Amino acid sequence: MLQTTAYQQLVRNLEYLKLKQMVTHLNEVIDFSIHNQLSFLDTLVKLSNYEIDVREQNMIHAMVKVGAFPHRKELDDFDFAFQPSVNKQQILDFATLRFIEGNENIVFLGPSGVGKTHLATSIGITAAKKRTSTYFIKCHDLIQNLKRAKLENRLEARLKHYTSYKLLLIDEIGYLPIEPEDAKLFFQLIDMRYEKRSTIFTTNVNFRAWDEVFREPKLANAILDRILHHATVVTIVGESYRLKNHLAQNEE
Ligand code: ADP
Ligand code: MG
Repeated sequence: MLQTTAYQQLVRNLEYLKLKQMVTHLNEVIDFSIHNQLSFLDTLVKLSNYEIDVREQNMIHAMVKVGAFPHRKELDDFDFAFQPSVNKQQILDFATLRFIEGNENIVFLGPSGVGKTHLATSIGITAAKKRTSTYFIKCHDLIQNLKRAKLENRLEARLKHYTSYKLLLIDEIGYLPIEPEDAKLFFQLIDMRYEKRSTIFTTNVNFRAWDEVFREPKLANAILDRILHHATVVTIVGESYRLKNHLAQNEE
């Protein structure tokens, strides 16, 4: 019988342990190690780093996927020059995720097309990439989901689920009116996350007009109170980016 060489045994061991990247890069690392007279430890570190790098990448990919972002737009894709009312340094500070440490909220307030969802998503993707559990949902969908859960007698579990995300992005508050019964469900979630978790909101409705969105002033106040207590409000005034090209054409 042919003897198994140490090399063959190692390949088998790595395969058995499902260390696929270490198998793939084994020859290359051995060659590198011989050429550069690497120590045993440095060689092992180099080889195992290949495995870890790929697993990290996969993990990041999975976290971003779980986030259910509407698109993969990131901060680098945002043209700050086009929207001078946005303080770039402030957005970069959000991207350090310092606000999540303090369980603080961010509210992007402004008319349609000025980049609220883009900025919120960019920060969300940054958080997900740093392994922060993050989830994006439109306010209307969130409320529909809570309503359905209530009908199916599993509201508590649903609220807990949405509270479990370290960062929740609630997009488009105020685009559609909210029934008082539904506003109560929304309030419950905001109350559960209050001072425990960070939430990013986008809205096109000034806070003074939230009474009309939630119909019941008392409830609107209670919701706003909790959202704004520890929040940074980013008010964006300016042109819609969607209309940018049309406007430019008309000026020609
Ligand atoms: P809002 O949520 O405020 O209605 P969006 O964030 O959806 O606006 O922006 C509308 C579209 O314009 C998106 O495709 C977005 O990526 C793009 N956009 C908005 N502002 C900018 C900007 N300053 N730089 C680059 N793209 C932008
Ligand atoms: Mg939007």
